[in-house]
Amino acid sequence: MGSIRKQLRQRLELERLSGADSLPRLNRLGTASREANPEPAPVDAEPSPDPSPAQRQAPAAAAQGGDQIAGIETVPPLDPADDTAAQLLAMDVDEVRGCTKCPLARTRRKTVFGEGSPHASLVFVGEAPGADEDAHGRPFVGRAGKLLEDIIVKGMRLSRHDVFICNVLKCRPPDNRTPQPDEVAACSPFLWRQLSLIDPRVIVCLGASAAQALLKTTEPIGRLRGLVHNLQLDPMAPPIPTICTYHPAYLLRNYTRDARAKVWDDIQKAMKIAGIPVPGK
Ligand code: SF4
Repeated sequence: MGSIRKQLRQRLELERLSGADSLPRLNRLGTASREANPEPAPVDAEPSPDPSPAQRQAPAAAAQGGDQIAGIETVPPLDPADDTAAQLLAMDVDEVRGCTKCPLARTRRKTVFGEGSPHASLVFVGEAPGADEDAHGRPFVGRAGKLLEDIIVKGMRLSRHDVFICNVLKCRPPDNRTPQPDEVAACSPFLWRQLSLIDPRVIVCLGASAAQALLKTTEPIGRLRGLVHNLQLDPMAPPIPTICTYHPAYLLRNYTRDARAKVWDDIQKAMKIAGIPVPGK
């Protein structure tokens, strides 16, 4: 009987994801994380312009598996014994946290490097940290992040640490404004290196800003989604298939059956490219 109940629950989740009902519901939401978050409570420490000796001595503990946030999965620390993980950690601790390459260094609280598996077959890329992310130093941890996590956990049947989640910008733009071209230009090399190191089978761009930054285009998201793009990171390496879909924050504002079905369709497409079994298929 327990098994039947479990199968029924899974079936209902899949139907919701496919648009037959809805994507996993948070609360009834009017607005989204990056747009609607109130200013977070002040955090204890301002980011140091240079990594402290303590940070250098314990990068693994600081870089992942950081703040515990209610309703958001924790991610285990990267293992410095793993070569890819070690390079990601070094980039975060030695370069990103002390970065002053653009004006956002003056207004951020914490840099947000990204988190997840250094060997993820699927990488999610968003636009930039919002207020919650800026406060905690972790990507996608506000209301939009909770929806993304529901897609990962309830829809894809994976965990945060099975994929990698990051943003084009590692610092929050003031008032969550759209990133400026010079900020994207300054920060993008970190993202390129992250993607080159992780070398995923597929990249999923969340929202127009991320998609346009990665694909170097001005096409709207409605024209970019539904296609498989090729991202040529390294001229000597094969391009990485790239899927564009709506940002979870957009979904929260436009919680329609049609929008949810489109996102789930995009996610399933990415899963198939990555070789991740699609539940129910
Ligand atoms: S947004 Fe990127 S380039 Fe700008 S200060 Fe932060 S880490 Fe450096």
